[in-house]
Amino acid sequence: MKKIGIMGGTFDPIHLGHLLAAETALEACGLDEVWFIPSAQPPLKLGDPGADGDSRLEMVRIATASHPRFKAVDLELQRGGISYSYDTAKALRKQHPDCSFAYIIGSDRINDLSQWHRNEELAELVTFIGVERPDEAADTAALPVYLRDRLVLAVMPQIGISSTDIRHRRLSGYSVRYLVTDGVYEYIAEKGLYES
Ligand code: ATP
Ligand code: MG
Repeated sequence: MKKIGIMGGTFDPIHLGHLLAAETALEACGLDEVWFIPSAQPPLKLGDPGADGDSRLEMVRIATASHPRFKAVDLELQRGGISYSYDTAKALRKQHPDCSFAYIIGSDRINDLSQWHRNEELAELVTFIGVERPDEAADTAALPVYLRDRLVLAVMPQIGISSTDIRHRRLSGYSVRYLVTDGVYEYIAEKGLYES
């Protein structure tokens, strides 16, 4: 059985927090690969212009290209509509019966895990690897036992970077250098992403 970590998210844009979470989970849990799966486009927030799916996928490709065990996967963008992790997990298990899957999630997603679509069935298809974000502590004790039993925590240096903050910096004309990889930095600048 190959052990695959799944990084799901909007990746609008992918940043160093995502990459370090993936690398941490890879090492801590002995994963063979981490697949980054950008979700289909969520509704835009007013005054907070997001990038389209192709650009978000391209940035994920750019950011993960140099890592031999990281892969960009366009499954959710291809499927379109609302991207439920349950649907993705079901599709992945069917397409790759020789693989086991673990969702890598930050503390904000740990804390809302019990509200995810069909989370009880999802927890039968995958396990979860949690990492802490500095802005929100993970409250694992509050999780129902069927989720807590499927979750392990991996310790990583906490990174106070979010895509929201990166988009806001761009809107306000501030630099996002060193919050994203050089390639992503150049892509954002070239395409004029997240400008007002
Ligand atoms: P946004 O601000 O737009 O919500 P984000 O930075 O939270 O963006 P997402 O694409 O929403 O990024 O997150 C994808 C996954 O990566 C989630 O599980 C999230 O918890 C995790 N994650 C995001 N940023 C970090 C970080 N700095 N440290 C650890 N995990 C992170
Ligand atoms: Mg988020």
